[in-house]
Amino acid sequence: MEIRKIRCKICNFLKEGLILEHYNLKVCLNCFPDFFRKRVDETIKKFKMFTKLDKILIALSGGKDSMSLAKSLKDLGYSVKALHINMEIKDLSNETSLIVKNFCEKENLELKIVNLNDYFTTNLEELSKIAKKPICSVCGSIRRYIMNREAFSRVIVTGHTINDEVSFLLKNLIFWNDDLLCRINPILAEREGLSRKAKPLCLISEEETRSFCEILGIKYVDTPCPYKSKVYDVFKGITLKLNERFPGSLIGFYKGYLKRIRNFYPEKQDNSVLQKCKNCGYLTTAQVCSICRLKEKLLE
Ligand SMILES: [Zn+2]
Ligand SMILES: [Zn+2]
Repeated sequence: MEIRKIRCKICNFLKEGLILEHYNLKVCLNCFPDFFRKRVDETIKKFKMFTKLDKILIALSGGKDSMSLAKSLKDLGYSVKALHINMEIKDLSNETSLIVKNFCEKENLELKIVNLNDYFTTNLEELSKIAKKPICSVCGSIRRYIMNREAFSRVIVTGHTINDEVSFLLKNLIFWNDDLLCRINPILAEREGLSRKAKPLCLISEEETRSFCEILGIKYVDTPCPYKSKVYDVFKGITLKLNERFPGSLIGFYKGYLKRIRNFYPEKQDNSVLQKCKNCGYLTTAQVCSICRLKEKLLE
């Protein structure tokens, strides 16, 4: 977002600031961080995600979204612990882990770092070949697995923004993935053995998380993952263009979908019966979970 001389709607001073077109608001650089935190808090309350009595685990990737969320939750007085998963991606992961570590030290935030090596004896490329799935999808399953195992009944919080939510929604509408479309929600209730999951940035754009980090001098990793899915990039690009051309359209579309979801999918169509993996106890639809199956294949 461009920094311009504006009359701040919050403090009324003529200062350097941002024009947030989707809220039709001009706000100075001093007032913006508080405005951002307030929006996060309003979203948490609106969707009844968690309260200050809940223990929270934030998945801290080192990117601007999760960093701005961690900082906001901490400042708002929530009880947060950070989990960083180092997937051992060459030229990226170690530098990222260092940025996350420095941030948590500075912010006095409890941090646990888990390495891919703690779970597997090989790298993502090998695992993707063994699983016969794209690296990005294998990486996602492993991350989810580790997150659930490390949560210990804490609420799992992730830094998905409105851009992520609308990209996911658009992609699944274009390809009519009904099993995913019927479950779109910024909060996923806990099930036996699986923690509740919440996305407090679901109404906040990436432009805002970037501005928040930059104004507060929070260092973050901006290098895209070399394994990131190209399909995802297409839909992410659409959301950026939409937000620029029609400010507010992403929030309107997302909120509108949530309001209408039961018109399209009257009842929850999630009929999957989950049982405990006989090796590790993780909830799965099969007898042995996909991560344990991957471990077995690796041994063969
Ligand atoms: Zn101001
Ligand atoms: Zn298992």
